[in-house]
Amino acid sequence: MEDIVSLCKRRGFIFPGSEVYGGLAGTWDYGPLGLLLKRNLENGFYKTFVDGREDMYAVDASIIMNPKVWEASGHVATFADPLIEDTVNHKRHRLDHLLEDAGIDVKGLTLAKMQALVKEKGLKSPDGNPLGEARMFNMMFSTHVGPVTDDSSVAYLRPETAQGIFTNYKNIVDTIYPDLPFGIAQVGKAFRNEISPRDFVFRSREFNQMEIEYFCDPKDWEILFEAWVADYHAWLESLGLPREKTHDLEVPDEDRAHYSKRTIDIEFDYPVGRKELMGIAYRTDFDLMNIQKASGRNMEYIDKHSKAKLVPHVIEPSIGTERLIMAVLCSAYAEEGEGEDKRVVLKLPEELAPYKFCVSPLLKNKPELVEKAREVFNLLKQKYGFVTWDDNGNIGKRYRRQDEIGTPKCVVVDFETLEDGTVTVRDRDTMEQVRVEVANL
Ligand code: ATP
Repeated sequence: MEDIVSLCKRRGFIFPGSEVYGGLAGTWDYGPLGLLLKRNLENGFYKTFVDGREDMYAVDASIIMNPKVWEASGHVATFADPLIEDTVNHKRHRLDHLLEDAGIDVKGLTLAKMQALVKEKGLKSPDGNPLGEARMFNMMFSTHVGPVTDDSSVAYLRPETAQGIFTNYKNIVDTIYPDLPFGIAQVGKAFRNEISPRDFVFRSREFNQMEIEYFCDPKDWEILFEAWVADYHAWLESLGLPREKTHDLEVPDEDRAHYSKRTIDIEFDYPVGRKELMGIAYRTDFDLMNIQKASGRNMEYIDKHSKAKLVPHVIEPSIGTERLIMAVLCSAYAEEGEGEDKRVVLKLPEELAPYKFCVSPLLKNKPELVEKAREVFNLLKQKYGFVTWDDNGNIGKRYRRQDEIGTPKCVVVDFETLEDGTVTVRDRDTMEQVRVEVANL
């Protein structure tokens, strides 16, 4: 994990947020290469689950929503994690994580039971101090909307993108008239005041989600649920995550969110352990019924043919971009060779690689080579966009640099190019080199 974190920083993928001021825990900034990777991933999500299908629509809702949204959804009352404080230095910790770190299975345990275990096992804080009383801590960030700062102006930064979908369900039905089943997707920021952010971007306080709410007739939910699990596995595999490293966890009754009748967490074997990459939940009609009750607006869907009315049920696949980026990087990262030949290579699928090509002249002090290489660069740049230029150091060093950031092909212009119009194309994974005519690149 340390190697990947260091590569991300060194090569401009991901930096600690506000680092120049000492950082801000749980925040991360994307550098140029990380942003390209993120865009490629999110574009891939749209391509696979929205553009490539007839039953899917996307929205982009506001991050700050009417606080009634979070009252109706249950977030104000229950979106909380167990917190416990070090009684000496007053650092706050996630109680369930402390117990897990001590080898205790916390699944299904109440706050009182966890507190009792702290006493029973004589558990101390990570700094070796006694722990205080446990309590639940709400993870929503609050702010005030408008010039008055009192209870009436409180609003929250959304802790999930899902509610921006539910609140637009009726708008989509009334403007697009989709047939059931249909889905609405949203990609965007979510904010959670995590008690202890950790494991690189895995647990951040500000992150991106790619969520889908798939509205269906309740009689069809089981078959559709299975289809979503299969579709997501296929997508994850296409992003380079080995199937043997992803695992379906059937979340037991006592651990499922109160609205869910079935949840599968897809976990991934990260270097820091097997952890939740994403979740697929059958949320029933919980959200639409809550909105109907709280807003007084009718959430029924009227079947175009039979005119039958129903409040649709929902299947929700939800994945965080950062957790996916981390899984993609861990799957792609490899160290190969020995001594002089040692290389670090990111074997990213071509569509995820920040740059598709690197173009360089064999020697940077030969104007005729540089001029020809520029021509090739412009040609590829026009065609593919994601092309980089590198004329620093010797060719071997350039290859190593491009391997490290996952560039699939390096194109080198040499003296032969001037004679016969062919260039060397070197493959990232096999390191094989072939001669290709510029016109055929
Ligand atoms: P966890 O149990 O790990 O806190 P969760 O079950 O609360 O996660 P969900 O509410 O199901 O997570 O959120 C959907 C997805 O959003 C998660 O599967 C994950 O990919 C992503 N996600 C949730 N919290 C974070 C976070 N703090 N940082 C980065 N991604 C997150």
